[in-house]
Amino acid sequence: KKVLADRMALLGTETAFEVLAKAKKLEAQGMDIVHLEIGEPDFDTPKNIIEAACHALTSGYTHYTPAPGIPEVRETIASYIRNHKNVDASAEEVVIVPGGKPIMFFSIMATVNPGDEVIYPNPGFPIYESVIRFVGGKPVPIPLREENQFRLDVNELAQLITPKTKMLIINSPGNPTGGVLTNEDIKSIADLVRGKEILVLSDEIYDRIVYGDTHPLSIASLPEMKDWTIILDGFSKTYAMTGWRLGYGVMHEEISARIAQLMVNSNSCTSAFTQMAGKEALTGPQNDVDSMVAEFKKRRDLMVNGLNSIPGVSCLLPEGSFYVFPNIKSFGKNSKEIADYLLNEAGVACLGGTAFGSYGEGYLRFSYANSVENIQKALERIETTLKKLR
Ligand code: PLP
Repeated sequence: KKVLADRMALLGTETAFEVLAKAKKLEAQGMDIVHLEIGEPDFDTPKNIIEAACHALTSGYTHYTPAPGIPEVRETIASYIRNHKNVDASAEEVVIVPGGKPIMFFSIMATVNPGDEVIYPNPGFPIYESVIRFVGGKPVPIPLREENQFRLDVNELAQLITPKTKMLIINSPGNPTGGVLTNEDIKSIADLVRGKEILVLSDEIYDRIVYGDTHPLSIASLPEMKDWTIILDGFSKTYAMTGWRLGYGVMHEEISARIAQLMVNSNSCTSAFTQMAGKEALTGPQNDVDSMVAEFKKRRDLMVNGLNSIPGVSCLLPEGSFYVFPNIKSFGKNSKEIADYLLNEAGVACLGGTAFGSYGEGYLRFSYANSVENIQKALERIETTLKKLR
């Protein structure tokens, strides 16, 4: 008998964690590494949020909570969604889970049948494809191209929709490219799927980390779209809370009740004091978020200018998130080889574009959620090391 169930062969992974482990190993051997591989803010969680968690711990928030979350925290999130995303959400439509990722896993698990087609961005967050395959769905990638600022092409999307399309996943601002769909794009996507009984999983985890003037539009705010949209959002990126594990989904009650049931079958509930910290994050002062985004913007500009001054590299200026996705096709090697080379020769940890799907070939992903000093050091090392390949 085999130890592992057959279904485990279908499950993928997130390469960032593997590269981090490899980089840590080199560090342990004495090599100096600049970490630009992992997608998390280097800032500490704002103090008011930490204090709220401590206060919750000493006030008895140490027990189980209802599976979909503490009612007052669900209401706080619903109110935030109404005000911030202009989506008329109720507390019953909110499910609180340990991070944004479980919403991906649970919502695909709850809605996608074997053989159902799911359209998802490529290059895109690798867990989408992993979970689609895991439940027996058919992954249908929609390419995000540099020529189109890494936004999906609505005409191309139209070609991919079939009677079997069950779900469309969008992620704006996007990982790994930093691309942001325009409000016109979002409206066209809604026009395309409206009335076709296609669920939209809208991953809006980076929607506060944007550098332009326009506030990203949630597809759920458009006519007839709310009941067909699952919004994925959370606290990891906006409030520098990656290690807390706190996120949520907003969706039709028929689905939110099932995600609550999946929580009963797995986590029981999200940690109580963590949920209370989330309430403070949304209702307390937001100036730490503003200063983080201002700092990210400075680092983005430094990173993009620096990369563009390296012969053979060209990099678009991303409008959101904290990643850049430079084109390195001129070096004539595949992106994983270049990423490995930069780690081993330059001590710069980054990801090859194919860690995010086949359309990521020819690109690298750097996270600039790191200090200006480290970014400068990385840029110098990348330049000297890539020069040797030309
Ligand atoms: N969605 C995208 C596009 C992400 O990049 C990430 C994290 O890297 C997540 C969701 C998950 O975030 P969390 O840490 O809250 O699970």
